[in-house]
Amino acid sequence: METFEIELESFLKTILPIPELYEFLLIAQNLSKKRGEFLYFAGGVVRDYLLKTLYKKKIEKPKDLDLVLQGNLKNFLEELLKKVKGEILFESQFLTYKVKIYLNGKEFLIDFITARKEIYEDIAKLPKVFPSDFKDDILRRDFTINTLIIGLSPPYKGILIDLINGKKDLERGLIKPLHLNSFVDDPTRIFRGIRYKVRFSFKFAEEFFLALEKCFKKEALKKLSATRIANELRLYLNKEPEEKLKELLETTFYLNIFEEAGIKVKKENFNSLIELLSELRDELNIKEREKFFLLGLLNSQFLEQALRLGFTEFELKEIKKNIDFINKKYLKDWKKLSLWEKIKVFEKIPPFYLLALAIYFPEIKEEVIKYFKEYKKIKPELTGNDLKNLGIKKGKEIGELLDLLKRKRIEGEIKTKEEEKDLVIQFLLKKSEN
Ligand code: ATP
Ligand code: MG
Repeated sequence: METFEIELESFLKTILPIPELYEFLLIAQNLSKKRGEFLYFAGGVVRDYLLKTLYKKKIEKPKDLDLVLQGNLKNFLEELLKKVKGEILFESQFLTYKVKIYLNGKEFLIDFITARKEIYEDIAKLPKVFPSDFKDDILRRDFTINTLIIGLSPPYKGILIDLINGKKDLERGLIKPLHLNSFVDDPTRIFRGIRYKVRFSFKFAEEFFLALEKCFKKEALKKLSATRIANELRLYLNKEPEEKLKELLETTFYLNIFEEAGIKVKKENFNSLIELLSELRDELNIKEREKFFLLGLLNSQFLEQALRLGFTEFELKEIKKNIDFINKKYLKDWKKLSLWEKIKVFEKIPPFYLLALAIYFPEIKEEVIKYFKEYKKIKPELTGNDLKNLGIKKGKEIGELLDLLKRKRIEGEIKTKEEEKDLVIQFLLKKSEN
């Protein structure tokens, strides 16, 4: 075990996302000292601090702080929350606590973790956990670069602890698992390793490939639940820089991870997928974006594999239904349809299915993009109420007229509210003639 002294104050000031947390940490620090329990930072915060200060890498401020206590965390938090206004929001089965605190009238969420030992009894299943000391807590981690800790209280206050040469691997830019069974225990670590490699432009150590081989041999990725696979892939989309997405997907593909997890993805989709995600960034909400991302990876010949990405049987049925709908009914005559007829087809399909279809059928891609960015937003200026005031009473007729107004706008035949009114009047005249 190697130890290094560090400037605690400068460390804290560098890593804290908001200065108000400094005071809070001092209180936590004093309490752990008083209780004789060792409090420390672990994981990404320490890694990123070293990358920034030692190796001058450009690193974003951490979004989550991993604060660990070797001791009785529940009691500790109860005592802490007598000194600071706040509450425990959530307690997990892994002895971790999500805590909300109020500082200067603002709310902050902090994750506290109990130093713990993990025992994996089944391949790719969640471990049993037991409170333990900081050494066991280091040894349960995913990669050597994530094993460094910085102590906040005695006996290691202001000390960087490097138990297993994590600092050297960080220096060399190596993604190395702690042992060769690491990915059999928890195959989600493979996806995590890929993220670190791509994010920091690091290299996989020899041990990464050996651990991967063991994992493939035991078919551990096949045993990983669909929910956990989908969670990991969502992190590619949500936690990493957008410009890294292609490399993340390609790295996963070339390591054969998708195949081993029982998912046939189509590498040729990656470019369209990334293009559509970026073009339509503002048109989709997060849930729609995630679903589209996952569906868009798949080879449309093997759609059942959506089940391996956390989609339900019902959703799978819907996807297939939409594909059949567009495939059988329209695709062979697609070119002959008018713009309005195409828009009518698009309107019947939920957004993320439609986007997935734009990937499976490249001939409709450009029109789908235009549909989201332009056509979908075109609305008549006259409202249903305006039409009522103009003398149209039946709901069905109002609906039809609004649709007609929209169509004429999309086709560029009318541009102003006045022209809309003219069209309605013509409609009324025609009706009275009949
Ligand atoms: P990021 O910058 O992405 O937040 P991080 O290293 O802080 O990176 P987290 O997902 O926040 O990643 O996890 C915190 C720490 O918990 C990691 O550094 C790692 O030590 C440990 N950890 C997380 N997931 C696993 C896992 N599946 N197996 C082992 N250790 C893990
Ligand atoms: Mg983190």
